[in-house]
Amino acid sequence: MSIEEKGSISIHTENIFPIIKKFLYSDNEIFLRELASNAVDAVQKIKRLAALGQYNGELGNPQVEIALDEEKKTITISDNGLGMTAEEIKKYINQVAFSGASEFVEKFKDAKDANEIIGKFGLGFYSAFMVADLVEIQTLSYQDGAEPARWVCDGSTTYEITAGSRTTRGTDIILHVNEESKEFLSKHKLEEILDKYGKFLPVPIKFGTKTEQLEDGVDEEGKAKFKSVEVDNIINTTNPIWTKAPADLSDQDYLDFYKQLYPFSEDPLFWIHLNVDYPFNLTGVLYFPKLKNDFEMQRNKIKLFSRQVFITDEVKDIVPEFLMLLHGVIDSPDIPLNVSRSFLQADSNVKKINSYITKKVADKLGELFNKDRKSYEEKWSDIGLFVKYGMVSEEKFYDKAKNFALLTNTKNENFTLEEYSEKVKGYQTDKNGQLVYIYTNDPAKQDSFIQSANKKGYDVLLMNSPIDNHFIQSLEQKLEKTALKRVDSSVASKLIEKDESTESVLTEEQSKTIQSVFEKAITKPGMHVEVVGLNPDELPVTVTMDEFMRRMKDMSAMGGGMSFYGSMPDSYKVAINGNHKLISRILKTENEEEQTTLAKQAVDLALLTQGMLTGAELTEFVSRSVELI
Ligand code: ADP
Ligand code: MG
Repeated sequence: MSIEEKGSISIHTENIFPIIKKFLYSDNEIFLRELASNAVDAVQKIKRLAALGQYNGELGNPQVEIALDEEKKTITISDNGLGMTAEEIKKYINQVAFSGASEFVEKFKDAKDANEIIGKFGLGFYSAFMVADLVEIQTLSYQDGAEPARWVCDGSTTYEITAGSRTTRGTDIILHVNEESKEFLSKHKLEEILDKYGKFLPVPIKFGTKTEQLEDGVDEEGKAKFKSVEVDNIINTTNPIWTKAPADLSDQDYLDFYKQLYPFSEDPLFWIHLNVDYPFNLTGVLYFPKLKNDFEMQRNKIKLFSRQVFITDEVKDIVPEFLMLLHGVIDSPDIPLNVSRSFLQADSNVKKINSYITKKVADKLGELFNKDRKSYEEKWSDIGLFVKYGMVSEEKFYDKAKNFALLTNTKNENFTLEEYSEKVKGYQTDKNGQLVYIYTNDPAKQDSFIQSANKKGYDVLLMNSPIDNHFIQSLEQKLEKTALKRVDSSVASKLIEKDESTESVLTEEQSKTIQSVFEKAITKPGMHVEVVGLNPDELPVTVTMDEFMRRMKDMSAMGGGMSFYGSMPDSYKVAINGNHKLISRILKTENEEEQTTLAKQAVDLALLTQGMLTGAELTEFVSRSVELI
């Protein structure tokens, strides 16, 4: 066989292959994704040509075969696609599309991952050199009278084209795997990579080993004996459900697919089938998982595909932040195979995809709410997190979600925003006409406050999910004349300022006496005593932290807001209920020591209801109580 042509690959830098290998080592498994998808493309092209009547030969069984030969240290990717002529090899393989060698080297320095480089420079095929010292192409074009051609390149910038040996239409890419990449000469390893990238490729992919060591060991020269093995294991599903029409799918199909993607997960709550072809092309199925309030573990579960080739499960820029907790797949040919982060951020399609997904999700939730409110409410503890997250992070989503977002109260009743304002406006409007929603973030700890509020006819909302702090703020911004107050931010009768106020029965003089008795009794710093007139059956003493103060402190604890508040010592209000029997009893008590004991006891009880009584103070309270009994 005579060499027909020797030439040099049109890259104007001495040698890019060592660079590819060196820089891209961590990501080098993508060579198989690139070569398998080229093979798939070739098969789909011949099918299209046949369909268009431009190819009239036998189509055969269109497929791709991937074979590992451990003995020869090769991986061969074969297809019966359209093949290439020698001219086409020169055109498509030799002329690597570079805008310029200097730019290439320049960009290379900062590139973070292989995708970024390979995508930018169209190096799909050349990713083979990440794992191979020598790459060979054997190909026969479908075109009438085409001659088989062979291309071989050893990773320098020179190549050779000679007559090839393929007798049937299609292409073999033969990788002579290098020493550093011998991890890929393992059946198990290749299966793992194919499972990751090729599980849903649209053309059957057969995988197997070409040779296998015989059970009975070695030959006379001590060399291992091998037998050849059929390559007949199809590893992929060529028609995954997202490529089908929703009308052709049953619930079970969706559930089965979910199980296939996430074998150990519980069934999802529901799903959305995405299907759009204008102004961009996108298909997919998004599932709402059961969340159970744990965010973090669930992120990055959406898989991004491009024409059924897996690309990444980092969909940060494509899927709105608040939907990152969803599961499922998105497939868009408008997102190139070699997607890079900088590409995604700049791409206008990506922004459109983002808002399309937001809209679809909002529509689906609205539909579920309208169709079957009861079952929607049952799912609320899971979907509430998405909805609230979406409402705080995206204006557009808020506008849609305000109709199906639910508020849950401590009696486990659910209300839409509108229903709730109707419900509470009678009792919970303050003297300035502002609605006050009362909430608890810890119903167990704040139980005594909740009961006092309920006694006054106030409803208390449950706001104990991780997102609720933010949700409360966005409700206050969006709802007209509405404020939210935590139930323990003041005594029940002061939660909502009204004109009518219960007067204290105490004289000014008596109030002063009580004030000083309590000031003496309290040893904890930051407690400000105030004698007020409350309902006689409210507690004699209540310790509260002002809503504003507490929020500022919460914010600075979370690293936001003004750190000034964070550095301030805790400050509480101690409200003494002048109308309570215990207070009159303290006044009547002649013995000063006894007065202090009673006051201490009352304050400690207040602290106890809030879980604020601990350590030595708790011990003291217990022994004092024992004595009093
Ligand atoms: P891309 O796939 O993005 O075009 P590649 O570097 O992966 O870039 O491939 C370059 C070109 O080489 C392809 O566009 C195709 O024309 C040709 N090619 C690669 N592999 C095959 C194959 N198995 N059969 C036919 N043509 C191929
Ligand atoms: Mg390619």
